[in-house]
Amino acid sequence: MKRGRFAPTPSGLMHIGNARTALLSWLQIRSADGQFILRIEDIDKPRSRPHYAKQAIDDLRWLGLDWDEGPDVGGPYAPYVQSEREEQYEAALQQLLDQDKLYPCFCSRAELQAIASAPHGLSAEGPAYPGLCRHLTSAEREERTAVKQPSLRFAMPEQPVAYMDEAAGLQKFASGAGGDFVVKRADGIISYQLAVVVDDAAMGITDVLRGYDLLDSTPRQLLLYEALGLAPPRFAHVPLMLGSDGNRLAKRHGAISLASIRERGLLPELIVGALASWSGLHDRTEPIAARELIKSFDLNNVPKEPIIVDDASLILL
Ligand code: GLU
Repeated sequence: MKRGRFAPTPSGLMHIGNARTALLSWLQIRSADGQFILRIEDIDKPRSRPHYAKQAIDDLRWLGLDWDEGPDVGGPYAPYVQSEREEQYEAALQQLLDQDKLYPCFCSRAELQAIASAPHGLSAEGPAYPGLCRHLTSAEREERTAVKQPSLRFAMPEQPVAYMDEAAGLQKFASGAGGDFVVKRADGIISYQLAVVVDDAAMGITDVLRGYDLLDSTPRQLLLYEALGLAPPRFAHVPLMLGSDGNRLAKRHGAISLASIRERGLLPELIVGALASWSGLHDRTEPIAARELIKSFDLNNVPKEPIIVDDASLILL
């Protein structure tokens, strides 16, 4: 049975780009008679706000999307929440430490910024870490730990990564692509990379559908699955929606939040219809309910190239 999820970070209002990812992911699972879950990724507490999580839940329900499990709160299911699952992440961290796959990193933000101009392989993740702290002796590590709390980095193994993406096709990454990445920050916060792997595995997720901007995180996550002895899901990275200037949809394109769309009294069917037609799932920009798209859903119909959304259709929203 297919199991999928939508996993928003509550650091801002959900906009139509997030809604599109949620809709496609939900349709992928519903069309296969699978199970869908919602997970609030609030592990980065300084960036997360509870009211954004609450708003995202409301927005998803308003769109007509639902999920099949989660804490029972005597009504529709509540989502899973990362900030309540820290024990699981710490256990995985310990497992990696026991295998000697992590090392402490003392580099400051300023030091890393100084190398930020160097060529790098991972756009979404910033420049590749050049491994400065990877080969410190244990005496050097002790000395530095006495004066500074380190972050923990996963030491990328010498191995290329390849996998077949359900939407983007065959993906190949060179050995060490993106460099050693942080799994626990110096301020104690567990990274997205580790939390998402632990959660998707624990929640039995078989199919991850998300935006193309996270494609570069996938080799890191595949290596974490391997290191933790977990089976990875299938991945589908769908193209981003861009404004007519070729940049990612943002407020300036009128890529407004669902909250403001709702305030203006627009109907969910109008938004779903627009999202579905931009995604090749509906031939006209006509209103339609999300559930009416289930039967005909085919991931192959979603364009492989970035989706350019012209300003005129955004104004309608
Ligand atoms: N929480 C991530 C985000 O909102 C998505 C994580 C994922 O789908 O793997 O960008």
